[in-house]
Amino acid sequence: IGLACLLGALLGTFMPWLDQERIAPFSLLPYAYIFGVIILPGTLVLCAIFFSVAALTRSFALTFAAALAFFVAEVLLNLYATPENGALAALADPSGRLAVMEETCYWTAIELNANLPWGLVLQNRLLWLTVALAALLLTLWRFRLDLAEQASFRFKWRTQGWQTPQPAIQTITPTHSFTPRATFAQFFSQLKMDLACVGKNPLVYILLTLGIVTVISEFQSKTGLLETPFYPLTSLMLPAFRYGLAQYVVLIGLYYSAELIHRERASGLSEIINATPFPDWLLLLSKTATICLIVNALLLVAVLASIALQAAAGSTRFELGLYLQAAFVYHGVYYCLLCVVAVVIQTLAPNKWLGLLVTLGVYIGLLSLGPLGFDHPLYSFSLPDAPYSDMNGFGHFSKPAFALLGYWGAFGVLLLVGGHLFYPRGNDAGLRERWREARTRIGSGVKLTTSLAAIVFISLGGWIFYNTNILNEYAMPRTRLQRRADYEKAYGRYDNAPAPSYDSINLALDLYPTERRLESRGSALLGNHKLAPISEFAVTVKPVLRVNQLAIENATLAQADAAQGFYLFRLNAPLASGVAVKMTWHATRKNAGFVAAEPDNALVANGTYLDTTDVMPMPGYDSARRITDNAERRKYGLPAAPRVAKLGDPAYADKLGFGVDSRSAFEVVFSTSADQIAVAPGALLKEWQQGERRYFQYKAEAPILPNLSFCSARYVVARDRWNDVALEIYYDPKHHFNIAAMIETAKRGLAMYSAEFAPYPYTYLRVLEYPKYRAAAKFHSGTVPFSEATGFVNDLHTVENADYGVMHELAHLWWGERITGAQMQGRWLLTENMADYSTLMLFKERYSPALAHRIVRGMLESYLKGRRDEDEAEVPVMYTENHGYLRAKGPHALYALQDIIGKDKVHQALRKFL
Ligand SMILES: [Zn+2]
Repeated sequence: IGLACLLGALLGTFMPWLDQERIAPFSLLPYAYIFGVIILPGTLVLCAIFFSVAALTRSFALTFAAALAFFVAEVLLNLYATPENGALAALADPSGRLAVMEETCYWTAIELNANLPWGLVLQNRLLWLTVALAALLLTLWRFRLDLAEQASFRFKWRTQGWQTPQPAIQTITPTHSFTPRATFAQFFSQLKMDLACVGKNPLVYILLTLGIVTVISEFQSKTGLLETPFYPLTSLMLPAFRYGLAQYVVLIGLYYSAELIHRERASGLSEIINATPFPDWLLLLSKTATICLIVNALLLVAVLASIALQAAAGSTRFELGLYLQAAFVYHGVYYCLLCVVAVVIQTLAPNKWLGLLVTLGVYIGLLSLGPLGFDHPLYSFSLPDAPYSDMNGFGHFSKPAFALLGYWGAFGVLLLVGGHLFYPRGNDAGLRERWREARTRIGSGVKLTTSLAAIVFISLGGWIFYNTNILNEYAMPRTRLQRRADYEKAYGRYDNAPAPSYDSINLALDLYPTERRLESRGSALLGNHKLAPISEFAVTVKPVLRVNQLAIENATLAQADAAQGFYLFRLNAPLASGVAVKMTWHATRKNAGFVAAEPDNALVANGTYLDTTDVMPMPGYDSARRITDNAERRKYGLPAAPRVAKLGDPAYADKLGFGVDSRSAFEVVFSTSADQIAVAPGALLKEWQQGERRYFQYKAEAPILPNLSFCSARYVVARDRWNDVALEIYYDPKHHFNIAAMIETAKRGLAMYSAEFAPYPYTYLRVLEYPKYRAAAKFHSGTVPFSEATGFVNDLHTVENADYGVMHELAHLWWGERITGAQMQGRWLLTENMADYSTLMLFKERYSPALAHRIVRGMLESYLKGRRDEDEAEVPVMYTENHGYLRAKGPHALYALQDIIGKDKVHQALRKFL
């Protein structure tokens, strides 16, 4: 098996879809290393130990328990290995995996290509080979060839059995009964036998244990920023059902379909059994039900393990209904369908090995449909993804999920009917024989079931198609990329072309949360802030917005591409420097029915969070749609992606994004449904209710960056004050844990950043929660939307109740909002690095220096580990382009600077700069 895996890895490098430029020339040494140092000794160690246990105890159960204990210990070891105890854990790991990781964790790509890890790995191998040798010697010494004595009670029981023999032939008067009740009884008796067969094999217990271990390890490994544990909310336990258990379901489908369907034939009893009077469908259904019961037992065990974990973590809110829905409806039905596929394939297969091979092929085929670019749910037979959010429930995912469950459920019934027709009952299972047999089995029951299932399958399929392809447009992933490539080819020349930018924005937004619809009407003054006059410029509208009206005074629409959202305006007379024109629009964003891919997760029933580009036109070209991967670009006939503009490039010195180069006055009347609160940047001027709608009027007190946020949900609001600043946290009532900590953090942050850098410019600071479909936090003027997955559900007790997210995003209101980097190299130094540095200093000065040092160490670790993905050359932090791993290096370097020359000097310079 080890050799086969190595061969697979080797063959994999020759696959045509890989970018051959990225593959190093073949070298035998690494393969030989893996086989000789990792696989061979590892196998030897495990075999020696388990063999010794088996030989010395002569008990299958104990050997099995030893194997299980080994496996659990391995999982725990991997879970609890930290940088501090890394060397020890590396030695303790019999697989050698941790030793290799410990040796290579800081290696760069070049080092990884050139070196092989020795040191700890050799020590580990020596240690475990010694253990294996000791185990074998012990066995040699203790093993005896004599038979152990039988337990006496067992012997007695047997003799008792012999003493009262039953007559071989009993007089039974059989009553012929073919009532449904009798058939039912037959079915249950068969089901009992099948279940007993499953229960006698230890595999099912291994699988159930693996299920529990998976749930535990997923729970343990889940941590927030700064490794803080999560509160044990039911919603956070649910992803394990999908990402942790699916692999075991596949195993169950593969193994038990082969085992059960061919059981009678394998044991040579099929002739007798098939001659007994029972309906043709009975065996097939009983075996299908058995496998489905195993799958559901696995889910049940996972649910119970999750609840136990929650209880152990001190929670009493178990949300049983939610568990049952998530486990058995959203996942269980689909998992059973996967098993039905396997059962039917095995029914048709002449023997179980061929059946296994075909099932495996079908599973792999289904799994690779997505990566190959076929993602329409009508043919992909995939699990409808329905993430659960405490704010929005299953939300807009539930309708397509139920439709697809019904659709594939009906398909499963059709498959089972097929399996029933071709189920081999008798010795001659040739193709022709089976055909003839199948025709005789088409009775009224089959006809009725088939037509009902077909009606459901076709009508639901039609309805899904109507939703995904008629109400909405469906494009395959390839087409979506093609569209981005087309956009760049057609309009790329307008990238960084001069455009007038916002001087003022006046918006009227009407949000209809239950319909997931938004009406955006507005006008804006676009001023020419360049030195030269502008005669034409582009306006971008996100394609999700349908433009009803878009006009610019004193300009004509020279080109309009609604599909791409590209509009070119030519001014009647060139717009002189310092002069502004008025743009007006009316656009609709709506979600009719449901889509096949890429659902709108920003505009939702409860917890809408939209930004400027989501609701209104932007002057300039959208360079964010560019395909960035160069291998991908080559496929679409695009040249290599342009690098980020050089630091100091005058052409990009004023470019903030799109064509925006200015701050703008801003005012909005934002309406939503009566039960929700709508929040936008600016001071709240007025709030009123009119019919079923609630209106909020916000106005920016001074010009702000047109980086706006629009949120609406059924919020609870926590209010407090810091000096003249109103602190408001808008959150979901289920997530009340950290509100006090967030407010305290915000106060300390406002106090320190204002004193050290510059006064806080707004009269308010708002933190808002939005659903976890996106897991990030973002800053807008005085407003910080936070994903429910990020800030609201971490247990902050281990970090002195300081909320890293609030600290970081608040710091952005100085580094990113007050001062903002142009679209060129080093932009991160001004934004992300400075925000992280400010956070570090806040930890150091207002919480504890020990905590700050812990974070700094973590940053160093993440930088050193991240370096290995650098495929060119590392650049100094002031020239960062989009090097993710340098995000940790910047604050680390700045922190070292204040350590060396003193905080006062560094902050004096920063104050001057701001
Ligand atoms: Zn940030």
